[in-house]
Amino acid sequence: MLSLYLHIPFCKRKCAYCAFYSGPDGDREQYTEALCRAIRQAGAAESRPLSTLFLGGGTPALLGAENLQKLLKTVHTSFSLEKNAEITVELNPESTTPALLQALKEAGINRISMGVQSLKDRELQTLGRLHSSAEALAALQRIFDAGFTNVSVDVMFGLPGQTPAGFEQTLERLLSFPITHLSAYALQLEEGTPLGDAAEAMEEEQEEALWQLLCRKTAAAGMEHYEISNFARPGFESRHNLAYWRRTDYIGLGPAAHSFWKGARYAYPEDLESFCAAPWPLRDSQPIGEAEAREEQIMLGLRTFEGIPLSLLPKGFDPRRYRDFSYLKNEHFILNERGFYLANSIISDILSKE
Ligand code: SF4
Repeated sequence: MLSLYLHIPFCKRKCAYCAFYSGPDGDREQYTEALCRAIRQAGAAESRPLSTLFLGGGTPALLGAENLQKLLKTVHTSFSLEKNAEITVELNPESTTPALLQALKEAGINRISMGVQSLKDRELQTLGRLHSSAEALAALQRIFDAGFTNVSVDVMFGLPGQTPAGFEQTLERLLSFPITHLSAYALQLEEGTPLGDAAEAMEEEQEEALWQLLCRKTAAAGMEHYEISNFARPGFESRHNLAYWRRTDYIGLGPAAHSFWKGARYAYPEDLESFCAAPWPLRDSQPIGEAEAREEQIMLGLRTFEGIPLSLLPKGFDPRRYRDFSYLKNEHFILNERGFYLANSIISDILSKE
């Protein structure tokens, strides 16, 4: 199985919490050309068909419909794609126009992931997002009107001043749309970001209450909690993200993009110019040894509803210690919802026994 990720590092303005590599500067045409070169060379180095393709960012829409179509065309001429390949683009509400959606549909995009984050205007302002709640709802409606049926939205919790009632309203309104997938991330206060430097983290108990609310609401809407931060209607799990957690091969192209390819990990530097100057080959090869592979399998597998084979558990670790937070199925150790919340400490405990 092979996946391809294309990073579009442009955003009109930085959100107040964002530490990703993205920004307003850079020549869109020159970047598209560099990315097309990288795609062609990656395609020449691979014979396997793509199972998934993901255009993320940043804000991919800022490349413009024409450049996005050029990228997709280059992918199609450089790789073969599986018949039902999952092809996702990330969108933000303010740039989701009917014309762009039409162009994406014609170019073969079959899954949209939209960054809504909240439907409370005060929270959106705190986050420094460019859209209002009304714009987010209108954009979501436009996506369905354009004929997309596999639609994911991102929300955030643990926001300054966020209340359970407000979060519940955001979730209920979003779940009233026929979305197939929901990603929910707790706000991380990253040092060096305006929000990270100014805000205080929500009390642990309050944040846990929001998490429980999230789990209840998504379950009531028929969604499965298939990864710590991800919920999907059965059959609509993100195949692209599952590839990361299952440790199947993926190639990531663009500044700051990571790859896991043929037994090694790679990462392009966070530098648009150096990527444009030499878009291929992948950089900073780090071969993964047996012990490291095993550690990765534990850390990534326990994030998901697939868990890890019992054979991966170290001898000194007794899974019964976590009987309230896990279950055993088909010779696998799997965290339940309570376990997902404590995943970091359970994983540390397992790794300390290695
Ligand atoms: S839109 Fe996304 S990538 Fe861009 S600044 Fe905001 S959070 Fe960061």
